[in-house]
Amino acid sequence: MTSIAQNIKEIQTFVPPEVKLIAVSKTKSIAEIKEAMQAGQYRFGENKVQELTAKYEHLPDAQWHFIGHLQTNKVKYIAPFVQMIHATDSLRLLEEISRQAIRNNRFIDCLLQVHIALEETKFGFSREEILRLLDSPVLQELKNIRICGLMGIATNTENKDTIRSEFRGLASLFGHIKEKYFPSETSFSELSMGMSDDYSVAIEEGSTMVRIGSSIFGVRK
Ligand SMILES: *Cc1c(COP(=O)(O)O)cnc(C)c1O
Repeated sequence: MTSIAQNIKEIQTFVPPEVKLIAVSKTKSIAEIKEAMQAGQYRFGENKVQELTAKYEHLPDAQWHFIGHLQTNKVKYIAPFVQMIHATDSLRLLEEISRQAIRNNRFIDCLLQVHIALEETKFGFSREEILRLLDSPVLQELKNIRICGLMGIATNTENKDTIRSEFRGLASLFGHIKEKYFPSETSFSELSMGMSDDYSVAIEEGSTMVRIGSSIFGVRK
């Protein structure tokens, strides 16, 4: 059995310093998260609102990222403290995040989730949808949110070529969007892609944020 601290150290040898490591702590205990913090890890990712708020109350000094599908009616619970929302996938959700950010007198960083995998899922924008969203005058009017980049989840497969081409496609879309919509905004700079099984490919393809759970904390029950 390796320890959480040893796992983090091992992963850090593969993650360049400019790539941000998000430790995905969903289902894991406060004690396990504290162990990671003692090893110098301070960014954590959660995918359930209730679990995130409970953990934030215990560990307010960590940086909390919401990486799951977020329901509009739950934005208010995380708006006071969340560092970044990785998987926004509708204008309606972005509008609510903006509203709650204003109420809390803060800015909330968001990534737009793009559907890149072969699996069917309701979550994430298609390429066409994201361009339509970025052209929408409603989006331009939203206050107190910063669109910081894109997020994607590759197909769950052993085939590294499939994964690589999905990440490469996302990186290329990121470049196109950056050039067309955010040429002078330095905050549009993040590409959240890569998990335990595919983060090295993601980094080779230009990831700036890897979301790693089981390789740090062990398999989830
Ligand atoms: C659970 C999860 C991860 C981490 O997955 P591992 O395979 O355990 O590294 C990353 N991203 C999202 C969106 C997740 O839900």
